[in-house]
Amino acid sequence: MAGREFRTQVAIIGAGPAGMLLSHLLAADGIESMVLETRSEEYVASRIRAGILEQSTVDLLRGCGLGERLDREGDRHRGIYLQWPGHRHHIDFVDLTGRSVWVYGQTEVQKDLIEARNAAGQEMHYEIADTALHDVETDRPCVTFTDTQGRERVVKAEVVVGCDGSFGPSREHIPMDVRRHWERVYPYSWFGILADVAPSTDELIYAWHSDGFALHSMRSASVSRFYLQVPNDTEPDWSDDRIWEALAARLGHGQDGWALVTGRITDKSVLPMRSFVQTPMRHGRLFLAGDAAHIVPPTGAKGLNLAVADVALLAPALAELIRKDDHRLADSYSETALRRVWRCTHFSWWMTTMLHRGEDPFDEQLQLSQLRWVTSSVAGATGLAENYAGLPIGL
Ligand SMILES: Cc1cc2nc3c(=O)[nH]c(=O)nc-3n(C[C@H](O)[C@H](O)[C@H](O)COP(=O)(O)OP(=O)(O)OC[C@H]3O[C@@H](n4cnc5c(N)ncnc54)[C@H](O)[C@@H]3O)c2cc1C
Repeated sequence: MAGREFRTQVAIIGAGPAGMLLSHLLAADGIESMVLETRSEEYVASRIRAGILEQSTVDLLRGCGLGERLDREGDRHRGIYLQWPGHRHHIDFVDLTGRSVWVYGQTEVQKDLIEARNAAGQEMHYEIADTALHDVETDRPCVTFTDTQGRERVVKAEVVVGCDGSFGPSREHIPMDVRRHWERVYPYSWFGILADVAPSTDELIYAWHSDGFALHSMRSASVSRFYLQVPNDTEPDWSDDRIWEALAARLGHGQDGWALVTGRITDKSVLPMRSFVQTPMRHGRLFLAGDAAHIVPPTGAKGLNLAVADVALLAPALAELIRKDDHRLADSYSETALRRVWRCTHFSWWMTTMLHRGEDPFDEQLQLSQLRWVTSSVAGATGLAENYAGLPIGL
């Protein structure tokens, strides 16, 4: 292992929401970290991904000084609409659970994090290559990488945290005889578009339809986000007309006088649907957080919120470990985090399988029965509301 050496207390791999928020929370506790990222700062700040923040996420961001723009520009929602042809029902999370959700894009959360970390002088290394982890089973783990000038670098740390998302190298460093994983690949994907048009709805519409699921979401008063269920391996090359026609049919344009307003499409992408959990989320001095350890299909709006919940648990655990040599929170991190991970994994699977069209007509009747129950029973609606608006961190 050659090359220039850096030293830090926590080496964080990945500058997504998990990595950046962790560095922010650690700094507030007086712990120094270094963040290593393969992409550029601009790329990370502009990735279009999640858009719904749970109550606990908003409370946490406010509590750590990241709530100012969120409070100004974020849009608080009381609930969602669930619909199937001929029916649209509002599920009011506030009435049912006293909790709400916020529409505030992951890109905005990411920009707030980058601004805060840059203002604090956080040491960041963007556009690195060849990230490799070493000695994570010892008290002196380290990470090597190649910097933008092609020089090999070594980061010596007390702890390494893998916040490197679903394709990063960290999770592979939990030995085969220790780790376990569970996976469900769904037989459909989401075709997502972003459009310069005011939302045609005050709250998100989750629509079951015999042509396939559709979602009307939004990013701001002038930008809407839509998703269509499509077969796996669909290319994002549909014409604008084809997309708007499919959305109009599935979202119920004309139903009870409701109209879908169309606009200029600015982004088209296809997102595969997958559930994945790898355990444990800690091995020696390596900890995993966010998509590095678990992936959920986006139907339950949980991916970003789970990443936030992980680092909210991990930051105090690492502070106790590093400052006081107190291992208790670090030792229980994986078990505590996984309780919420599995709850959200189940909820995301449940929402997905209730709303997406399959091949089996028997399943279709079960889905409609489930939708009728959730929208007509206080118990059914409260279960959905409690999970969607989010259970407390550390559940
Ligand atoms: C395309 C896409 C669309 C999504 N859409 C939605 C949605 O609509 N709704 C929803 O709820 N959720 C959505 N999600 C999920 C949500 O965005 C994630 O759960 C969230 O980003 C998790 O944050 P994270 O920090 O754990 O991981 P990420 O945001 O993935 O960050 C990981 C970071 O690690 C970096 N990295 C990877 N490998 C290395 C390496 N070797 N060295 C250094 N750095 C590395 C990556 O470049 C990345 O910046 C989407 C995810 C994807 C991928």
